[in-house]
Amino acid sequence: MRIAIVGAGIVGVTTAYELAADGHEVMVFERGDAVAGGASFASGSLVAPALVGPGPTLGLVEIPPRLAGLGLARWAWRQRRSLRPGAAATEARTRLLRLADAGHARLQALHAELGLDTERAEGALVLLRRKQDLDRARAPIKRLAELGVAFELLDGERARALEPGLDAAVPLRAAIRLPTAGVVNCRQFAHALKAQAQRLGAQWRFGATVRALRAGTAPAIVGDDGEHGFDAVVVAAGAASAELLAPLGVRLALAAVWGHSLTAPLREVDGHGMLGPRAAVVDERHAVTIVRLGRRVRVAGGAELGGDAQTLHEPTLATLYAVLHDWFPGAAQLAQAQRWKGARAMLPDGLPLVGGAGVDGIWLNLGHGGGGWTIAAATARLLADRLGGRASAIDGRALGIDRLR
Ligand SMILES: Cc1cc2nc3c(=O)[nH]c(=O)nc-3n(C[C@H](O)[C@H](O)[C@H](O)COP(=O)(O)OP(=O)(O)OC[C@H]3O[C@@H](n4cnc5c(N)ncnc54)[C@H](O)[C@@H]3O)c2cc1C
Repeated sequence: MRIAIVGAGIVGVTTAYELAADGHEVMVFERGDAVAGGASFASGSLVAPALVGPGPTLGLVEIPPRLAGLGLARWAWRQRRSLRPGAAATEARTRLLRLADAGHARLQALHAELGLDTERAEGALVLLRRKQDLDRARAPIKRLAELGVAFELLDGERARALEPGLDAAVPLRAAIRLPTAGVVNCRQFAHALKAQAQRLGAQWRFGATVRALRAGTAPAIVGDDGEHGFDAVVVAAGAASAELLAPLGVRLALAAVWGHSLTAPLREVDGHGMLGPRAAVVDERHAVTIVRLGRRVRVAGGAELGGDAQTLHEPTLATLYAVLHDWFPGAAQLAQAQRWKGARAMLPDGLPLVGGAGVDGIWLNLGHGGGGWTIAAATARLLADRLGGRASAIDGRALGIDRLR
């Protein structure tokens, strides 16, 4: 088939690769000038299935998004309703965890098959500062055990042995060690996979904003240079997907839950080597991740509803600086920090939308939320299987548009 993909974030790139690997003729349209320029640019880079949840931040801690603007109040209300403890929320959480496991496995397989080099580091620790943090984590810990997730509950001393750069002055009651979790630079991976997809024949159009979609047996995309016909069109445009789909009658309650990151070079100290984390740590209380990316450190967190891409949310950035300073004081050259804001595109139930759009010729791979990097490789494979009319090894139940009707 001749397939167009709208958007070259991590979801568009992985989808392009899987479809090209299946022998389709793929053309990707991206309004920016490179892959991974949107939410995939400087995201947390943590690949930790156990922490992928339907809420705005991490599975263990769910910090409610700060609301800026009344227009999103209804969305926030719907999200709160779908996350209310009960069978539906438990099922969504379990589905997302399984999807994240499948994404993690597919990422590892792609690294091995294609020999990709992406600043990887293995292992993650969820840091529980005090007894009340440990008490609050008991229920999620129990759930992880029930779901068969590999983890270990460590006391502070053992955790510090794994991450010796943690400041000894900050109390650390316990930590959850997630041995299979780790760090992978999402943007580097997207660039490497784009090259592989290109080798398989996928074509890329940058600076190509898709203005409209045409559904039907001969679907098309409309750009500034006119209309282009295909056999199928996949929408993977992240937070911008809803506005493209609305004119087709596909109305999605897709919100942008904004988050921020700081990335800075690590400092080297004579006799101590490079300061900072060895792999990934998560400050449970603040839902902030701190990861090592080669010779840099990245701190990510925050969840804001409303606002725009340009205006940074200073209180969130202040939290990121404070949490980094707490755990790894002096480790980073903060004068050179790159400050970034990105949108987690989320539906109120926190699950992605993968499959047909319910109108001829249009397919969806969107709504990846706070764990989008971890699940992207799984939803790409699932979408390719669905589009190819094959049974998939990835369980895609409840990820279709039918659930929203
Ligand atoms: C602060 C923060 C931290 C995060 N940390 C993690 C983490 O540690 N682990 C994890 O698993 N996930 C994390 N995530 C989530 C993850 O980054 C996202 O879910 C993921 O990047 C979404 O990818 P995407 O391809 O759907 O969207 P995007 O990367 O935004 O890609 C969409 C693309 O579509 C393009 N586009 C949009 N409209 C059009 C149009 N009309 N025409 C052409 N192109 C168009 C955009 O330019 C963009 O490039 C984090 C997110 C944030 C914001």
